[in-house]
Amino acid sequence: MGQQRFNKGMESRGTRSVWAGEEKNLLQGATQVPVVHSVSFGYQDIDAWHDVALGQKEGHIYGRNSNPTVEVFAEKVRSLEGAEAAAAFSTGMAAISNALFALLSSGDRVVTIKDTYGGASKIFLDHLPRFQVDVAMCDTDDFDGIEAEIQKGCQILYLETPTNPTLKVIDLERMVRAARQQGALVFVDNTFATPINQNPLELGVDLVIHSATKFLGGHADALGGVICGAEEIVKRVNRFREIQGGALHPMAAYLLLRGMKTLHLRVRQQNESALAIARWLEQHPRVDEVFHPGLPSHPQHEIAAKQMRGYGGVFSFSLKGGIDAVRAFLPSLRYAHLAANLGSVETVAAPPRTSSHLECSEEERRSMGIPEGLIRYSVGIEETDDLLSDLKQALDRLPERIGAPS
Ligand SMILES: *Cc1c(COP(=O)(O)O)cnc(C)c1O
Repeated sequence: MGQQRFNKGMESRGTRSVWAGEEKNLLQGATQVPVVHSVSFGYQDIDAWHDVALGQKEGHIYGRNSNPTVEVFAEKVRSLEGAEAAAAFSTGMAAISNALFALLSSGDRVVTIKDTYGGASKIFLDHLPRFQVDVAMCDTDDFDGIEAEIQKGCQILYLETPTNPTLKVIDLERMVRAARQQGALVFVDNTFATPINQNPLELGVDLVIHSATKFLGGHADALGGVICGAEEIVKRVNRFREIQGGALHPMAAYLLLRGMKTLHLRVRQQNESALAIARWLEQHPRVDEVFHPGLPSHPQHEIAAKQMRGYGGVFSFSLKGGIDAVRAFLPSLRYAHLAANLGSVETVAAPPRTSSHLECSEEERRSMGIPEGLIRYSVGIEETDDLLSDLKQALDRLPERIGAPS
């Protein structure tokens, strides 16, 4: 019923962030989705119960399998990604690991990049090989190299763009073309871009994955993950999750839903601030390098311009003087949590070696091209000028001797 009213002519993602998925589960005129804490769902009619259990009728049986609040969250993301189906998970890593373990078997081969999120790269390095799944980890910006590995044959091509934390961008259309020739499925972690800035499914990707903990929720107060794609693939992964147990908690689903109602506003502001700040830092004498796909100096800027509507709220930069400069600089920031998350309404700054790539050794980080003195800066929704002055005062306070040419 209401579902149709919302889906009809709802082109704009901003409006979908607010309305999509909501109406079907509203209760007794409530304007907000209820948090259904019930673990199980009862039936007086044994036959109706049986039909729901077999998936022949809509409904819920047991909270590990499905829940009304969680369903609304998945539906909202599905709508924003333009997918046939979506499924929710307890965390982004649960989404990633369930998708991989549900669809791979011993003897299969995965092609991926060196710059995946630290937890994902741990799965590729340590866990899939234990099940005789062969993993090829390619240099992220070597598209010829990735294509060559795909052509050797693979079941899954696993990508992330823009990457964490050096914001490399992968040409998705080109990679999809190569994967299609091998009949491989293409997964893309779309966490950094958000569905506001990028919809990989439109470029032929098979499965989009998000850590909802980041921009989707946007308030750093709930963990969650989600996958979007064709119904047949999402169902297979979701059936595995029902058994594996990585269910999203209804309260977390509610917090993520509430956060998502402002997703488009937050991302719009974060896109704008990140680009302005990255531009400013790029010309600062104490700054060595700035990595942001919106900068014309970014090696894959053209590709980003082609496949993204906005460049995202995260960038990274390195200070002259390396880790000593980072140690002196970070605590001087007034408007930034020094913490491991990103995508929140508050600005968050962190060295990757204590956050996204904590799981990796120094050697592994080096091979991924992550300088030890790098700072990842996730722009919040504060006024751009306040963030600029904050960075300015922190840079001004850096002792002259650090980073000075010797
Ligand atoms: C944080 C993050 C993840 C993992 O998500 P969790 O919700 O922390 O499990 C995966 N991919 C990217 C790009 C991330 O930033």
